[in-house]
Amino acid sequence: MTPTPLARAAPLAQIAPQVIPTISQTPSFSVAASEEKMVLKYALNNMATEDLHKQFLNSVDKLLPEQVEELNRVMEMTGIVLASSRKIVKDDTVRHCLRCHYTYFERNNGRRACNIPHQHPIQDPHSAEVGRILYPCCGYRSHVGYKVVHECFTGRHTTLGGNVNYGTRSVRTCEQARCFQNMRQA
Ligand SMILES: [Zn+2]
Ligand SMILES: [Zn+2]
Ligand SMILES: [Zn+2]
Repeated sequence: MTPTPLARAAPLAQIAPQVIPTISQTPSFSVAASEEKMVLKYALNNMATEDLHKQFLNSVDKLLPEQVEELNRVMEMTGIVLASSRKIVKDDTVRHCLRCHYTYFERNNGRRACNIPHQHPIQDPHSAEVGRILYPCCGYRSHVGYKVVHECFTGRHTTLGGNVNYGTRSVRTCEQARCFQNMRQA
């Protein structure tokens, strides 16, 4: 009796069980696949890090829910999205930043979340030129009429005092900022 195609296929499947490839061992299945990798690498190698970050971030809200899910799966494999990221977005703990003294949720924290403005500038004592100014908080020098290009500090909010440089005059301690005064009185 001639075996049916299905019967012939069965032993083959047993000899070569399907292996689900992981990211570390995923082979290039075809020329097209390796070309796709080159396309991605070329794009990554030819974009400024800041531009890449900005464009990526701006496009997240434009993606469909299923596209975000798929993207997150890939990002988890690359180690960019971590299990801790999932925990953080659900964390409703109210935190107090020991640098700027605002309260925040960790899900809203980021590399530009915490901003400390400069203190009032003074005439630069080391310059005879009128209008040369010095920010005594950090030593930043500028000129009257120039836009201040950066804050005295920009970074992440923190609940760890060890991360805060209280040496600059623009950064105050909780005691100086009287953060918990009302709480103590209550
Ligand atoms: Zn400053
Ligand atoms: Zn802060
Ligand atoms: Zn405080």
